[in-house]
Amino acid sequence: MIQITIDREACIGASACVAAAGKTFALDAEGKSTVVNAQGDSEEEIRAAAAGCPTGAIQLEEVASSKTEK
Ligand code: SF4
Repeated sequence: MIQITIDREACIGASACVAAAGKTFALDAEGKSTVVNAQGDSEEEIRAAAAGCPTGAIQLEEVASSKTEK
């Protein structure tokens, strides 16, 4: 499972993430990207969205889905 963090200061509303993974990202009323469903698209599509962001505003972090301890 991937945890998605969006740096809203860095986001310029270019919408590339929405184009790549439209079930995961959407622009809010301020024209900034937000996560609407962290599992809305495949991991591959979410990674493509992060890679395609022109300002690198999307950070992805791999998180264990079932384990809570190390
Ligand atoms: S691709 Fe990056 S800059 Fe564009 S809307 Fe998404 S997070 Fe914002």
